[in-house]
Parts: sequence; structure tokens; C-alpha cells
Amino acid sequence: MTDNQHNYISKASLASPYFPTWCPGCGNFGVWTAFKNALSELQIPEEQVVIVYGVGCSGNMADFNRVYGFHALHGRAIPNAVAIKLANHRLKVVVVAGDGDTYGEGLNHFISAMRGNHDITLLVHDNQVYGLTTGQTAPTTEKGTKTKSTPFGAPEIQINPIGLALTCDATYIARGFAGDIRHLTSLIKQAILHEGFSLVDMFQPCFTFNKHNTYHYFKERVYNLQEQGFTADNKVAAWEKTYEHDKLPIGLFYQDPHSVAFHKTLSQLDEKMLIEHSIETIAMEKAVSAFR
Ligand code: SF4
Repeated sequence: MTDNQHNYISKASLASPYFPTWCPGCGNFGVWTAFKNALSELQIPEEQVVIVYGVGCSGNMADFNRVYGFHALHGRAIPNAVAIKLANHRLKVVVVAGDGDTYGEGLNHFISAMRGNHDITLLVHDNQVYGLTTGQTAPTTEKGTKTKSTPFGAPEIQINPIGLALTCDATYIARGFAGDIRHLTSLIKQAILHEGFSLVDMFQPCFTFNKHNTYHYFKERVYNLQEQGFTADNKVAAWEKTYEHDKLPIGLFYQDPHSVAFHKTLSQLDEKMLIEHSIETIAMEKAVSAFR
């Protein structure tokens, strides 16, 4: 849709000339569809969205979406997104990254962004393996799983992303499944609209290198929290849900209705965005002279 001032994102406008190189059957296709649904249904002007991609099969989405974006170094998508948001806090900033990138190489940035309640949305393609590098153990790989890098079984306990987000007081915490596109679309839309840090961890089967966590595995186990009456306003109840293994809850685990984003706590940004400040108003010379 277009008006006099804006071109709004639509499925047609998102189409790039490149078709995905993902393996046939990859869960990335489901996530990609849900992501495009969410962006087009929210009807955001094209110039008000920036997507920051991590390194991994998921990050290759940078080529498949025609939208403003930045392809970051491995593990560094989150700090780039935070910097973009602080420079121009009127933008919607979304990170698309994998579980290895986010919970491995980028773990410190993940924790920092939650502590700051930076107003970015983090979408994690959680396939429980390093796919792009052909099947090594990731931080989310179940203990004991045999992979290329751990042929006798992964020796470490897998990370609990939802539990970690609860511990770090993230203000929007959800989990979706690539095989339930309608539900995942709804979670991504809510996450983008949330003020403050939002996480959507997404079960995303890696058809080629993870023969354990398959579509069949997830379809037998996932259930929708909200359909069971879960209200996502109690961290202790949410915490208990993260330890369910026989059945896997998806949906909204927790949302803080009183969340205040980091940039709103900075008086320097009350009247102007950082990019609207001149060098003079930043008073660099004055700041430096204080240390002379
Ligand atoms: Fe998808 Fe796995 Fe293939 Fe990567 S290696 S494109 S995650 S199926």
C-alpha cells in the first residue's frame, strides 16, 4: 500500500530477486513466511524498519528480503541493532539470528540487551545445531546428542533460552514453532509492537543436520500455552513451564505491561533523536576538557 508520504511494507514489496538457498524442507521457510506475514500485516512504512541479520542459515535471509537491513558479524547482530535503535529510536529494529549466533557467540550481547530493555525484537531460529557449518553441537543441543563435533554425545547441558530471558527480566518472552505459521505470525507481530526488548525463540527443524528435533518430534510435543489458559503475567509460573520436556509449550511466556524502553530513560533523547543532534550540542570538547 502507498499513500502520499509512505510505501508500506507488503508481501510484494518484500520480494527480492533471490530465492532461498535453504535445503528443501528447512524450518527457515516457515519462519520466513511468518516474518513476512507479520511485517506486511503491521503495515509499517518501509523506511521505518531495519532488519539486522546474524551469521548462519537464518542470516542468509538478508538476501531474500527486500527491506532495509544489515548483515552483522557472527554473534554481533544484537549490538548493531541496539546502536541503530539508539541512533534513531523511531525505527522498528528486528534481529534475525540463529541459536548458535545468539546463545553462543553473542550470549553476552543477548544478556546486555535484556538488562537494558533495549527496544529491539530478537527472532531466534532455534534448530539446536550449527546448520551452516554442517552440523556441529550448538548451545541448545540436548545433552548426549551425537553430532559431528561430539560423536560420543554432547557433554554439556543445553541452554534454556526462555529461562535465561526470565532471569534477565526481559519484558516480552515467547516461543513459536516454524510448523505453526499462523501462531508464529501473531507472536512476531506482538513482539514488534511491544515497547522494550522482545524475544521470540522459534523451534526450527534443521532437516539436514538434526535428525532428532524434526517436524514430527515437535508436532507430537508442542502445545499452545494461551489455549490452555496461561496468562503470561507470572514469572514463576512461566519459569516452571520452561522445564517441561515431554510436552513443549509455545506461546507467550511473559510480558511486562509496564515496560519502559531504554531510550526513554535518556533525557538527551527527549526532544530529538541522536542523529538529529549536532556535534556542538553533544559538547564533545567540554566533555573531553573535564578529563584534562
Ligand atoms: Fe536449514 Fe539445516 Fe539446511 Fe541450514 S542446513 S538450510 S538450517 S536444513
